[in-house]
Amino acid sequence: MVKVALVPCTDYAQAEKAVETAIDLIGGVETLINKEEKLLLKPNLLAKTPVEKACTTHPAVFGGVAKYLLAHGYTHLSYGDSPGHGDPHGNAKECGIAAAADALGIPAADFSGGIRTPYAGGKVANEFILANAVPEADGIINICKMKTHMLERITGAQKNLFGCVFGLNKGASHVKFPNSVEFAKMLADLNCMLPARLHVMDGIVAMEGNGPQSGTPKQMGVILASTDPIALDTVFASLVYLDPTLVPTNVIGGARGVGECDAAKIEVVTPDGSLTVPEAQAKYGDKTFDVYRAPEDKGEIKYLRPFKKLIRRRPKIKKDLCVKCGICVKSCPVPGGALHFEKKGKPPVYDYSKCIGCYCCQEMCPKRAIYDYQNPIAKIANIKFKI
Ligand code: SF4
Ligand code: SF4
Repeated sequence: MVKVALVPCTDYAQAEKAVETAIDLIGGVETLINKEEKLLLKPNLLAKTPVEKACTTHPAVFGGVAKYLLAHGYTHLSYGDSPGHGDPHGNAKECGIAAAADALGIPAADFSGGIRTPYAGGKVANEFILANAVPEADGIINICKMKTHMLERITGAQKNLFGCVFGLNKGASHVKFPNSVEFAKMLADLNCMLPARLHVMDGIVAMEGNGPQSGTPKQMGVILASTDPIALDTVFASLVYLDPTLVPTNVIGGARGVGECDAAKIEVVTPDGSLTVPEAQAKYGDKTFDVYRAPEDKGEIKYLRPFKKLIRRRPKIKKDLCVKCGICVKSCPVPGGALHFEKKGKPPVYDYSKCIGCYCCQEMCPKRAIYDYQNPIAKIANIKFKI
């Protein structure tokens, strides 16, 4: 059985203790990591947003992990993340992680450039442009955030390591791996390549709805920890009543050997004893969590196939929220762009014939102006008939 620790915690003031308990519940770190190793702490620093927005890892969780490591003699620590747009230091300052790291004497790692790094073991990706600090680290401590994601439904432990790829090179990966399944295969390669030793998830206040940047904070009240990112993400999906097998990163990562995606083989260890995944769901889950739960598009209704382009999910702009900053236009990885400014003073417009549905524009919009749209009839058909 693969262990995932679940520690109830509803207040960030208690996060440090909860993190300590969670790591101890999976057996601590001494057997996993050599004290001489250089460890890169990898929080989620997706955007320059205040911590209350629940877009980034909370500094109390980051600080809890860092203090745990320092207290156990791990002193070669640094931290960093590479968002798709903007300055990681600015993001770290805004959400409080820079202050938490400074207080503990942990320096920011070098995320100012990227290094082309071949990966002979890749099934679909034979190289990555990793941020400078990543190949220099002996091990990664993944401190991820519990959030929704338009492409992969959720972004948890496995997806958080995509921030090790340098800046805009992430967009190029979306073009090369243009749907949720292909993208998940690339993420599985990345997770196989990177030496992440421990995964801790900030699920005290998660993000639901229009994540990973523009969603709504949602109290979930848990800290999760595991050495297995897929098992951790499987527990996360179960807690929000999303069938874990609908999450491409779980299924593909599981098949690739990144970790365990069979809930029956996962033991949820809590301070009050061990639970099965369904027991943990019943005790700590939340059915009201807003996440995309519709079945996978299987093309089962033949006569609806010609209309697929019309009825598929797509990003859309709320004109009243758009400030015409152009970040979405710059973020679009499709050559020539699938959205652009057409008229001066008006929001950008989409060319859906070019759009690959990667949702980079939605992810990067700083004003929560882009959302996931699906034709209402298609929504019903999708639920009823699995179009
Ligand atoms: S949709 Fe968002 S990112 Fe795009 S121009 Fe408007 S505010 Fe900027
Ligand atoms: S328009 Fe948005 S969703 Fe479509 S390809 Fe460009 S970034 Fe991706």
